[in-house]
Amino acid sequence: MDITVETVLKRTPEQLAGISFHCACGQTHRVEMRKLMLAEGALYKVHELLRELNLGGKAMIVADSSSFAAAGKALADDLAGKGTDVRLSVFPEEQWYADEKALVRVLIDLEPDTELIIAVGSGTINDIARFVSYKAKLPYIVVATAPSMDGYASTGSPILVNGFKKTYSLASPAAIVGDLSVIRQAPRDRQAAGVGDMLAKITALCDWLLASVVEEEHYCEVIAALMSKALTGIVSHVQSIRDGEEQATKLLMEGLVLSGIAMQMIGNSRPASGAEHHISHYWEMLHFAAGHRTELHGIKVGAAVPIVLKLYDALLGADPDTFRMKEKTAAQIADWERDVRRCYGPLADEMIAMNRGLFLNQTELDIRRDRLVGHWPELKPKLQAILAIAPDVQALLRQVGAPAEPKEIGVSREQLADALRLAKEVRSRYTVLQLADQLGLLESFAEDMAAAH
Ligand SMILES: [Zn+2]
Ligand SMILES: [Zn+2]
Repeated sequence: MDITVETVLKRTPEQLAGISFHCACGQTHRVEMRKLMLAEGALYKVHELLRELNLGGKAMIVADSSSFAAAGKALADDLAGKGTDVRLSVFPEEQWYADEKALVRVLIDLEPDTELIIAVGSGTINDIARFVSYKAKLPYIVVATAPSMDGYASTGSPILVNGFKKTYSLASPAAIVGDLSVIRQAPRDRQAAGVGDMLAKITALCDWLLASVVEEEHYCEVIAALMSKALTGIVSHVQSIRDGEEQATKLLMEGLVLSGIAMQMIGNSRPASGAEHHISHYWEMLHFAAGHRTELHGIKVGAAVPIVLKLYDALLGADPDTFRMKEKTAAQIADWERDVRRCYGPLADEMIAMNRGLFLNQTELDIRRDRLVGHWPELKPKLQAILAIAPDVQALLRQVGAPAEPKEIGVSREQLADALRLAKEVRSRYTVLQLADQLGLLESFAEDMAAAH
């Protein structure tokens, strides 16, 4: 396909579905998802889409009681009326977790001659359908019912196994359908969560830039520009999103799906997830361990963004000539190990094994410090340009009715400080938390944030 970088940047998310192009960053980017349809009345075009993509005539709809009422029933009736053999797997209540029980339930309902799975819902239903369709070697499509998170076009599903969340690498949906008249009716907290998950891209994109300099991680200007463009549109329409206006709702859905497209292009979640997601995962883990039902993903992530932004403010306000990176002493590593055991409980051994190798010696740290200081004159304005997309994230969160501080989602002072110190251990991805730790700034930052909590 003859697609240039300039034309990619002009494309809408619908026009990015199914493309493949050789990028200026040196990689060939592919979008596995073949079709995206976001429009009023899109629900009644699913039949045509199944024919267009040749997905078969025996489809099982996976939904929960609320998504079935919102869209599943109408879709099942429409498809059946047009000749599709429709089977149902409907959870009797709203489904909050993709766990072993939920997966088996869908497998019990799955007839052996089924040709296609249709997920009708948002996060959890999509995760369940993606897992089952992958294992059953069937294609699946998603009919989105809420603009609540960016996982629609994701290729992975977080599944709760033995009470612990594990993300499985699976496949992209063949298509995503969003009927705006359905999505606009979603409960208000879903819009708030979607905006929170999008505002997280500000810190995620900054973290990616940092990693490209300090760790020389692959960075793609085209994907970052696509994400920034989507973010800019959403930031200037937050009030209309809250009011459920059609075009604003479409902008939010496009941004959320685009995040998934960006992940497909680069092959990991780097463009969409950084320190704010790691902090949110840490809190979520504590909530699971305590047996509490947690907030929507985007709500937790959104509440973490302002804290990470404060760390960026501190970093950008510092004089790079004062940047020092010192190798950790044996005593400091022992303290770290004790903290990981205290905070991660049964997961501590795994966390320690995964992260111990990340402590760098003085030579390795000097190389990283030199990269940071050497690139600082061009890195700083690039970071500032991303941060300028939303100068007041807390105001935007409040405008959309989302919690704007960790305490508003039940995070204690100690849980905030621990998350800042130890959320970087959640996964081995370089973020501003690692950089602050290497620069010796993290501990005092965690204390300051806890004191202000
Ligand atoms: Zn690229
Ligand atoms: Zn997210």
